[in-house]
This record gives sequence, structure tokens and C-alpha cells, in this order.
Amino acid sequence: MNEYLIAKAAQIIRNGGLVAFPTETVYGLGANALNPIAVAKIFELKERPSFDPLIVHIASVDDLNTLTKNADRNVIRLAEKFWPGPLTIVLPKSKLVPDIVTSGLDTVGIRMPDNEIALKLIRAANCPIAAPSANKFGNLSPVSAEHVKKQLPNVDYILDGGNTSVGIESTIVSIERNVCTLLRPGVITIADIENALPNTFVFNAEKPHKLIAPGLLKSHYSPVKPLYIIDKQAIYLPESSGIIIHGKKDQIFNAQKYIYTSQSFNHLEIAANLFSALHAMEDDENIKQIFIEPVPEVGLGLAIMDRIKKAAYKYQ
Ligand code: AMP
Ligand code: MG
Repeated sequence: MNEYLIAKAAQIIRNGGLVAFPTETVYGLGANALNPIAVAKIFELKERPSFDPLIVHIASVDDLNTLTKNADRNVIRLAEKFWPGPLTIVLPKSKLVPDIVTSGLDTVGIRMPDNEIALKLIRAANCPIAAPSANKFGNLSPVSAEHVKKQLPNVDYILDGGNTSVGIESTIVSIERNVCTLLRPGVITIADIENALPNTFVFNAEKPHKLIAPGLLKSHYSPVKPLYIIDKQAIYLPESSGIIIHGKKDQIFNAQKYIYTSQSFNHLEIAANLFSALHAMEDDENIKQIFIEPVPEVGLGLAIMDRIKKAAYKYQ
């Protein structure tokens, strides 16, 4: 990418504007995390409820010390092992982080994205960047610049870095001494975290306790057309149906449109292509309803099914 475009985007961030930019997970809608007015514009443009906290993106591990408290050895180990990468760590926040970023919580979610454009933007802006996914609240997450334009045509600027590589949102954990809680599944799995922290208990937060976190709501990431999870080997679909499948199939579906997220049921490929497949179905005028094949909920399958179930929830 042309360095001039990154410098221009960084200037917009410094001036309190909003920039959509690629990360390895999905496109983010970024603002200077230390400027409460700029952060407020994110909530306004996304129509995001003010109780939904934002993730703060950094380009240097040193920023953990200024933005958070209690970044102990376990936290540093996670950061060293998985950053830059799709892992968000929730920690007690320092005074520097405005309340609007964390929706009034005394904790903040931090991550270092594994995308050169994102890292250069953060460095050039010279501030941490608060960024949720660059979509309208509750709709499909964007994994290309075109997806951002579709939902947020009025954003100040979009850095186009092509399709994102991971394709689903980051794993989120909170960590307190030797207890680590999975708040949102992602491509970094519980097993990955257990391997990195051998003396730590890792729990899956089925219930979000006192945390109010829409990433954990039952309905989220939804297409504007009905989406149904299929649970049968072969079914007869209504007219104008699209079907999303994850591997070569012998069964016959009578769908009008087929999208394969993977030829071989490869979980990394499925995650990377899931939201693009949903966007393509959403954008096709001839498709009235979408069907999608489930995957077993083990390993990365947990994160994939988390997104599929939330996308389909309101249509059940
Ligand atoms: P998004 O960036 O749109 O994928 O959404 C960010 C998600 O991160 C929120 O919806 C929450 O689920 C989660 N999150 C961010 N900050 C915190 C926090 N301090 N505590 C718990 N969850 C958080
Ligand atoms: Mg989101």
C-alpha cells in the first residue's frame, strides 16, 4: 500500500476523524482511543449501543503498561506468544483510557493486529486506535473494503487492504493471575491458550456474568435475509435459496446458488471465507433465504459455529 494513503489516514485519526482499516480478522472502524469525542463518532456511525465496549489496537507491547494495570507475567506471555495476532486481552484499564471506550467498565480489551497496514496506521497516528468492526451494529462483519462501503458509506476514509485473512473476530480472554476466561471464541482456541500458560486455568464463559458484552449476545453478525442452519444430509429447499457449504458434497441440494467456504472442510478456510459467503448471498437479488451447513463445535469449529448461530438466531 502507498505510504501516502496511510499518512493521510493517520492525519484523519489525529484530527479526530474515523478511518476504516483492514486487520487480519475483519475491517475495523478506527478512532483515536484517547479522544472521547472521536470515539463517540464510532458509536454514532455504527449505531452501536453505548453499553458495548470497544477494543483498543496497539502497535507496541509497551502500550500495555500505559493503557492497563496488572499486566503480569501471564499477560506478557500471551502477548509475546500471540501478538501481533487475533487475541484480545481484557485487563483493568488505566486512567488514560476514556470511559466511553470501555462503556464505563473498569476493564479494557487490547490487541495488536497482525496486519501491516493496521500496524503502520497505528504508528503513524501515534496513538492507540479504538476500533470495533466497521459495520452497522448487529449486521454482518466486513472482510473487504466493499463490505465497509456497503454499510458505512459516510465514513471519513477507508484504507483498502483487500480481503482479510482470518475472517472472523478475535478471540477475547480476560485474565486475572492464573485464571483465564474465554469471553469470545476465535481462531486462537482454548487449547492454544492452555499450551501457552501451563499453570493457568482456562474457562469458557458460557454465561457472561456481570460483563455486558454484545459480542456475547445470542443474536449478532446477522445478514438482512433469513439464514437457517441445515441439520439434515439432504433437504429440499424453497425457491430462491442459497446454500453455504464447507466441503465437497455428494448430497443433492436444489439451491439456486452454492458457495463453498472450503473444498475440504478446512476450518481455517471456513473461518476466512464465512462472512464473504454471507455477504455474497446477502448481495444477490435472486436469493431470498440462505441456508448454511453447520460444523462440529470443537477447536476452531467453536468460533465458526458461534458466528453462524448468532447470525441465524433471529430467524429461527
Ligand atoms: P467488536 O470489536 O465489534 O468485535 O466488538 C468488541 C467486543 O469486545 C465487545 O462486543 C465485547 O464483547 C468485547 N469487549 C471489549 N472490551 C471488553 C471488556 N472490557 N470486557 C469484556 N468484553 C469486552
Ligand atoms: Mg462487531
